[in-house]
Amino acid sequence: MKPFSEILKNQEFTRAELVQLLSSEGDERQQLFQRAQTVKLETVGNKVYFRGLVEFSNICAKDCLYCGIRKSNEKVIRYEATDDEILEACRFAWVNRFGSVVLQSGELSSPAFVKRVDLLLRKIKELSSGELGITLSCGEQTIETYRQWRKSGAHRYLLRIESSNPELYRKIHPENEFHRFDRRLQALKDLKTTGYQVGTGVMIGFPFQTIDDLADDLLFLKQIDVDMVGMGPYIEHEDTPLYEFRNRIKTKQERFDLALKMVATLRLLMPDINIAAATALQAIDPSGREKALTIGANILMPNLTPCDYRKEYQLYEDKPCLDEDAELCRNCLEARIELAGCEIGYGEWGDSKHYLK
Ligand code: SAH
Repeated sequence: MKPFSEILKNQEFTRAELVQLLSSEGDERQQLFQRAQTVKLETVGNKVYFRGLVEFSNICAKDCLYCGIRKSNEKVIRYEATDDEILEACRFAWVNRFGSVVLQSGELSSPAFVKRVDLLLRKIKELSSGELGITLSCGEQTIETYRQWRKSGAHRYLLRIESSNPELYRKIHPENEFHRFDRRLQALKDLKTTGYQVGTGVMIGFPFQTIDDLADDLLFLKQIDVDMVGMGPYIEHEDTPLYEFRNRIKTKQERFDLALKMVATLRLLMPDINIAAATALQAIDPSGREKALTIGANILMPNLTPCDYRKEYQLYEDKPCLDEDAELCRNCLEARIELAGCEIGYGEWGDSKHYLK
């Protein structure tokens, strides 16, 4: 076996080496973090790009066993933000020179939903004179829908694979045709075919998942050649079926540490991609996202969802910034990012260097 410090210098990594990086503790973990930061600065630089996140609807046709807004959770009050509310949030992003916005929602595929998103895309482009970049995160759709949305102005799409192990995927989703691993994988391929910058990712530390699985997840991300990754710790939610297994998972702190190691290791494996500092990190540690920015991440998604809706978009418990409006959120973030020693890429799209290549 190679010494740890030698592995860190690799350009390619075996599965066993990835496991070793993900298992590092103490001084070795520190070395991993330092190396990831160096690789980040050398490859994508010190800038952090903002993507203003608008969670515009929590209506969802799916029933993922871990997710707080799953269809069967009747405690959730379902909402759909109005066009005006959504456009107002986007205008805030534009005026404040955030390079782009992310429109996220539960998963629907009705013609009415497809059309609504389409119109929103056009209006957002119009209000910002084409300047705001738009990322969508609205789940699995047909290739025609992806094509249509691409034409109307979306240029990036986030769709997490959640786990690249089909067997594990099956364990955290209902067994029916709406929740098939193959379908999700096909959607990622369709997004690529239709010309999006594609982002995916996994949850870290959910029941039954092992370090080997996570190493395989990293290899999967490399193999499908993604442009952007968002991944964060799994966090339990009491109104979901997976809550039953809460005694069989790592502590929150352990999941948090593992998530940071995943980010750092991914930066070594795929130096030129965009990696988001996931919001779920902040649900465990108040400065969780900034910590991710100092060890490899370069994207941050300030929440611009109208405050009244936020408590109904609780994917997991302790989701942060429930009552902080966009302005407060921005001021607070600026300070935090400076503390993390990074610079904000105002007014820039901050496209993935990997995609541009
Ligand atoms: N419906 C869209 C996006 C909304 S959910 C889609 O399917 O892509 C966005 C992400 O939140 C999911 O991909 C999942 O990775 C994450 N998420 C959901 N429940 C979570 C939980 N309990 N803990 C951590 N992350 C969770």
